Amino acid sequence: MIAEKMKQMVANSSAIRAMFEEGNRMAEIYGAENVYDFSLGNPNVPAPEAVKDAIVELLEENDPVALHGYTNSNSGYADVRAAVAESLNARFGTQFAGKNIVMTVGAAGGLNVILKTLLNPGDEVIVFAPYFGEYRSYTSNYDGVLVEISPNTVDFQPKLDEFERKITSKTKAVIVNTPNNPTGVVYSEETIQKLAAILEAKQQEYGTQIYLISDEPYRELVYDGAKVPYLTKYYANTIVGYSYSKSLSLPGERIGYLVIPDEVCESEEVQAAANVATRILGFVNAPTLQQKVVAKCINEKTDISFYDRNREALYQGLKECGFTCIKPQGAFYLFVKSPVEDEKAFCAEAKKYHLLLVPGSSFGCPGYVRLAYCVAYETIVNSLPKFKELAKEYALSDSVS
Ligand code: PLP
Repeated sequence: MIAEKMKQMVANSSAIRAMFEEGNRMAEIYGAENVYDFSLGNPNVPAPEAVKDAIVELLEENDPVALHGYTNSNSGYADVRAAVAESLNARFGTQFAGKNIVMTVGAAGGLNVILKTLLNPGDEVIVFAPYFGEYRSYTSNYDGVLVEISPNTVDFQPKLDEFERKITSKTKAVIVNTPNNPTGVVYSEETIQKLAAILEAKQQEYGTQIYLISDEPYRELVYDGAKVPYLTKYYANTIVGYSYSKSLSLPGERIGYLVIPDEVCESEEVQAAANVATRILGFVNAPTLQQKVVAKCINEKTDISFYDRNREALYQGLKECGFTCIKPQGAFYLFVKSPVEDEKAFCAEAKKYHLLLVPGSSFGCPGYVRLAYCVAYETIVNSLPKFKELAKEYALSDSVS
């Protein structure tokens, strides 16, 4: 008999995954070219060539016993952690050292490590809707309580007045994700400054420590020169979770890192506890070969022009069909208003046209649907006539005809 808690988790299991599996099933029946699967954030851009070169070089240059062994510290190789710190300092004017970095099993692994490190049962974790739905499970893993701030559907910047009201003496962490999944919105510097000021004041008011966790797997995926503030510079008690899943197209390799700056409350204890959490959660250490790969590829970038072309084509195409959404500045998602209140019914209708979308309720924002446009350009071009037919069903006005 499985655990009661798992029963709930299985029942609420990710709608994104379910849709992705449905996409695979449909592709077998109708042919992959006739299914327009916008469900999963699995990059369609290959990893930079330098990644392959790095893997080959590492295999040729290194003693395989050492290369594939456990790392001395569960937080990762010292040289890799130092290289990550140095790269962040060069880019953001920060002053991190290797000890501030914990190599992790992607952003998901990093979030679990830091929540395991910080949460006592009943501690509250605040998230801004719409948010990455897995935060629910990650918080529940450590018996935390997820507190949602309702979505601001005007521009999808966080609702800071509600945020201020919902902080309590039990608030232990706040997770922000910018560029955001599922909206693609980048939180403005003004938003971050105000958010930081609220947190400072509330820490004072309650005499507590409130950790800001910046979950940023999409940091590098921005368009039109959008700037993504580096949060440790605005609020001292900030921990950053990063991932190479999207920035180097390595989601299956499971590699990322946490930054735990010295300015964080009781930082040495947090760093030491995160090191232990990495081990006792069963990760033991982040994949060793991939640690070395990312250190060698620290200045590599994904082909952002690929995503940008998709973004323009899908955004313009949907707008022309009469759909409403704001133009994303980052990540590779469009968050589109459902033409009917029940967005799950809309997703079911879209499926009849072989269009696979994810309901916004998975992100705490019903009434919207998410499209991941990290797909082949042809998928977008070929899907647009289907979207047009779908829009007609809802009598949306076609802005070009
Ligand atoms: N956080 C957000 C906002 C995400 O969108 C994702 C993956 O899509 C993750 C975390 C997990 O990423 P990773 O593959 O690095 O574990």
